Amino acid sequence: MLRLDLQKLFLLLTTATVLLTFGNSYYATYQVQKQLMIDSTLESNRVYAAKLAETTNNFIASAQLQLAYSAGILASDMSNIALLEAEAKRLKQQSDFFNTVAIINSDAVIATVFPYTTPVKGLVLPNNARQSFNARQSLVTDPFLSPSGSYIVSLSEPIFSNGGDYLGYVTGTIYLHNNNVFFKLLGQHSHNDGSYIYVANRNRELLYHYDPERIGDLVNGNSVLEASINDQQGSAMVVNSKGIAMLAGYAHIERAGWGVVAQRPVDSVMAELDVQLTQVILKSLPMLLFILLSIWIASRYITKPLQALALFASDMDKNLSQTHINHIKAWYFEVNSLKQAILSGLGSLNNRINQLHEDSNTDPLTQFYNRRGLVNILDSWEEKKISFAVVALDIDHFKVVNDTHGHDVGDKVLQQLCDLIRAYPHEGAVFCRSGGEEFLIMLPEASAQAAYQYAEGLRNQIANVDMPTAGKITVSLGISLWRAEDKDCSIKTALKTADIALYQAKRNGRNCSIIAE
Ligand code: GH3
Ligand code: MG
Ligand code: MG
Repeated sequence: MLRLDLQKLFLLLTTATVLLTFGNSYYATYQVQKQLMIDSTLESNRVYAAKLAETTNNFIASAQLQLAYSAGILASDMSNIALLEAEAKRLKQQSDFFNTVAIINSDAVIATVFPYTTPVKGLVLPNNARQSFNARQSLVTDPFLSPSGSYIVSLSEPIFSNGGDYLGYVTGTIYLHNNNVFFKLLGQHSHNDGSYIYVANRNRELLYHYDPERIGDLVNGNSVLEASINDQQGSAMVVNSKGIAMLAGYAHIERAGWGVVAQRPVDSVMAELDVQLTQVILKSLPMLLFILLSIWIASRYITKPLQALALFASDMDKNLSQTHINHIKAWYFEVNSLKQAILSGLGSLNNRINQLHEDSNTDPLTQFYNRRGLVNILDSWEEKKISFAVVALDIDHFKVVNDTHGHDVGDKVLQQLCDLIRAYPHEGAVFCRSGGEEFLIMLPEASAQAAYQYAEGLRNQIANVDMPTAGKITVSLGISLWRAEDKDCSIKTALKTADIALYQAKRNGRNCSIIAE
C-alpha cells in the first residue's frame, strides 16, 4: 500500500491549491472574457447594422433625388420618345444604382426601359406590378415579379405636368437575385466566422441575404427583425432559422421601412474565446511550472529534517548514537523542538543504560566491581597486554563478627573495610568483591615484590583501624602474578593461584600475606 509521507502530503496539498487557484482564475477569466466578448460583439453588430442602415438610407435618398430630377425633365415632354430613352440611359449609366431604369406613361404602359434586354417596351403593367403606378408618389416598392420575370424592388418617382396631371413615373429597379447595389453596399459574402447580414422589408420578406436562395422568403417570429422593422435599433441574442444561436445587431432603414440585421454565431465567439484562453494558459504555464518546481524544492527543504528525524526515531532501537541526529539541520521551530526532545530523551536513555551497565558490573553494598565487572576489565588488560598482580583478601573469622554483632554490623564492617582498601594508595588498582567477605585487588604492572609490600601495608592498616562496633579485625591475603608475555598462565589460573595463596595464609595462622609459588 502506498504510504503517504509528509512530503507527499505537502506536495499534494500545495499542488492541489496552486492548480485550483490557477483553474479558478482561468475559469473567472473565461467567464469575464465571455461576457465581454458577447457584449462587444452585440455592440459592434449594432453599430455595424446602424452604419449599413444609414448607408442604405443615404443611397435611397440619393437615388430618389436622381429620379426626382429626371421626373422634372420628363414632365416637359412625355411624348418625346427620344427624350425618354436618353433620360433612361443617363439615369442608368450615371450612377449604376439600378439594374434597369424604366419610364411608364399615364396608361401604365412601359414607354422605355434601359438596358433593353427583354422585350417589355409597350407592355401594359400587370396588376401585380402597379404599386408605383397607383401610389403617384415617391416610393420604394415591395418586391414583385417584373414584367420581364425578375424578382425586383423599385424606387419610383411620379411625373406630373405643370398643371398637375399625372403623366406616369420614372423608376429604377433593383434585381434582387442579380448582382445589385445591395451587394455592393452590404457585402456579397458571409464571413469565415459565420457572420452575415440580411435585410427585410416591412412585410418580413427577405430582400437581401448572403444565401440568394433565401431572397423572397418570409421571416416570421424573428424578434430582432420585428424590432428593426419597427424603427428600432439595438442588439440581442437570438436563434436563427437553422437553430443556431446568434449575436445580432439591428437597425431600421427609414426611407424604405426596411430592417437590417448583422449577426454572428455565438459559437464563433466562443471559439475565439477558446483560442484566447489557450493563449492565457500557455502564457501562464512557465510561471505555473516555476511555482510547482519551487513548491517541490520547498517541500523537500521543509520535510527533509522531519523525515530524517522520523527515520532516526524508527531506527532508534538499533542505534542510540547522537551523531546522526546532530547532523540534522533543525532550521525551524518544530523540528528544533523535536530534535531537542529526542536528544534529551536519548541522553537520559543513555545515562540510564550506562547506570544499568554500571549496576550490573558493581556490587551494591561496597561499590566495588563484582566478578562480571572485573572480568570486563581484565579482558581489556589482556587485550592491551597489561601485566598485573592479583591480591586475594579474606576477612579472618568474619562469622564471629556476624555472630556476635549481627549481620548489619557485618555489612558496615564490609563497607568500612572497602573504604580502607579504596583509600590505600596504589596507582591504577582495581577492586572487586569476589564473594561474601572476599575481595580481589588488581595491581597493574606491579611486581611480586611491590604487590607483597602493598598487601602487607594494607593488612597492617586494616589491623590498626577500629571497625564500627566490631572493633579490630584482621585479613589474610594471597598474591599471584599474571604476566602478559607468559602464554602458559591464563588469568583464570592467576586468580585461582591467588586464592590458593590466600588459603595458605589462612593455614599459616591468618593476618598475613603469602605470595604464590
Ligand atoms: P576464615 O575466613 O577466617 O576461615 O573464617 P570465616 O568465619 O571468615 O569463614 P568464612 O570466610 O568461610 O565465612 C564467611 C562468613 O562471612 C559467612 C557469612 O556469615 C559471612 N558473610 C558472607 N557474606 C556476608 C555479607 O554480605 N554480610 C555479612 N554481614 N556477612 C557475610
Ligand atoms: Mg571467606
Ligand atoms: Mg573469612
